[in-house]
Amino acid sequence: MPQSDTPLPRQPVRPFLVSVKHVIDITPALRRICFTSPLLADYPDVSGGAHIKIMMAHGEQTVPVLPTLTDKGPRWLVPEDKPLIRTFSVRAFRRNACEIDIDFALHADSGPATRFAQQAQEGDVLAISGPGGPHPMLQPARHYYMAGDLTALPAISAMIEDMPADSDGHIALLVPTSDAIQDLPVPDKVTLTWVIGNSADSDKLTVPFLQHSMENINSYFWFGGEENIVVPLRNHVRRNMEVARTAIYAVPYWRDGKDEDAYHQNRHTVMDS
Ligand SMILES: Cc1cc2nc3c(=O)[nH]c(=O)nc-3n(C[C@H](O)[C@H](O)[C@H](O)COP(=O)(O)OP(=O)(O)OC[C@H]3O[C@@H](n4cnc5c(N)ncnc54)[C@H](O)[C@@H]3O)c2cc1C
Repeated sequence: MPQSDTPLPRQPVRPFLVSVKHVIDITPALRRICFTSPLLADYPDVSGGAHIKIMMAHGEQTVPVLPTLTDKGPRWLVPEDKPLIRTFSVRAFRRNACEIDIDFALHADSGPATRFAQQAQEGDVLAISGPGGPHPMLQPARHYYMAGDLTALPAISAMIEDMPADSDGHIALLVPTSDAIQDLPVPDKVTLTWVIGNSADSDKLTVPFLQHSMENINSYFWFGGEENIVVPLRNHVRRNMEVARTAIYAVPYWRDGKDEDAYHQNRHTVMDS
């Protein structure tokens, strides 16, 4: 991600409104929405792949209601005002242009975030939080081993842009159809494998991925996407290879059959297991 703009330190950010500037279909399955707001001039330093909450209006609302800042953090004093909240990744941030890009996987089992993306028009509004997650998302290493699905592709694409040219390793991506494949500019010694399938086919990715030889020193392991991709890879790396937790990012982004509200607590249980 271009880092030419002057970074600001990380600090708590009150959620604020951003509006759709333009929409680009990267592939039929992945839609990039560029959001803008003058407040992005003061947004904290962001690395590609940082976590971000999006907050969407519901019912009769035309714009999401912003929280009140309390001693316990942001709260909605009228519970019904609370927007629909989903977690996404920062694909790119351009401070000088006051623009932030988020890539949305357009899945058929659509929830509010997918619907927002499918219907997005210039001027549509949602709220975003400050950035979260590891900072920087791409930890310094010589060997990179990454895997994920369409929901992890935005973060992985952003991290590839930040990888030193002499890095080596392996990246595997599970995407629903062959037209979701992109030409990603990986370093020469990083191999990239695309696997076609949906979340029920996660072993088509995980089984061959684990047959690659992987170094456990000076390495960074990054796994995101549906739970059945992330958990077996994380367990192998942690238990069989005995890699330090600090060298592993393993976050189940979603679980088939559960919306994000229902999955949120499970996700933390899975991550702690
Ligand atoms: C840290 C983090 C970063 C993420 N970054 C991104 C990102 O950059 N881009 C992105 O697209 N997603 C990303 N996700 C995943 C995204 O939050 C979930 O896919 C979320 O459920 C989408 O919200 P929704 O409103 O569309 O669907 P929900 O209302 O949450 O779910 C509705 C139904 O759709 C199913 N579902 C959810 N996601 C998918 C999917 N991808 N394919 C098929 N079915 C699905 C659910 O199981 C449920 O049955 C990220 C998640 C996390 C935790």
